[in-house]
Amino acid sequence: MDTKLAPLHPNKNIALVAHDNMKPVLSEWALRNREVLADHKLYATGTTGYRIEEVLGIKVHKFISGPLGGDQQIGAKISEGDIDMLVFFWDPLEAMPHDPDVKALLRLAAAWNIPVACNPASADFMISSPLLNAAYERTIPDYDKYIAQRVHNV
Ligand code: PGA
Repeated sequence: MDTKLAPLHPNKNIALVAHDNMKPVLSEWALRNREVLADHKLYATGTTGYRIEEVLGIKVHKFISGPLGGDQQIGAKISEGDIDMLVFFWDPLEAMPHDPDVKALLRLAAAWNIPVACNPASADFMISSPLLNAAYERTIPDYDKYIAQRVHNV
């Protein structure tokens, strides 16, 4: 597929998601990085969002709870260019009823080339990057070209 450049702006829209066993881990990570996170706009699936808001005292835009559609809402926002980074502490030791949604969210994050952290170590690397507060020239699928080709070829 053809690609084009799409900047990630210095002020990032950061989505936070944690499976139940990982919520304390995400809360601890978020608290440790409160000052940095406060300079960006935070989004989260429902339960994670309430928890993070409580811990940080910072407003979080909350989607529906993950298993009820929140993961898919965040995926849709990534496709629309409204989410720049994803911190998703999924549980490697427990099967999830909404596993297809989890996979779909991770797939869209990869497809739209946004940074993803799946554990505290990768989240630490991500949040301490000089690119966090800088504009970044991201390469994304050229959807306009893609749709134009399909309209004429299919
Ligand atoms: P939750 O969803 O924040 O509403 O618990 C997380 C998830 O399981 O995707």
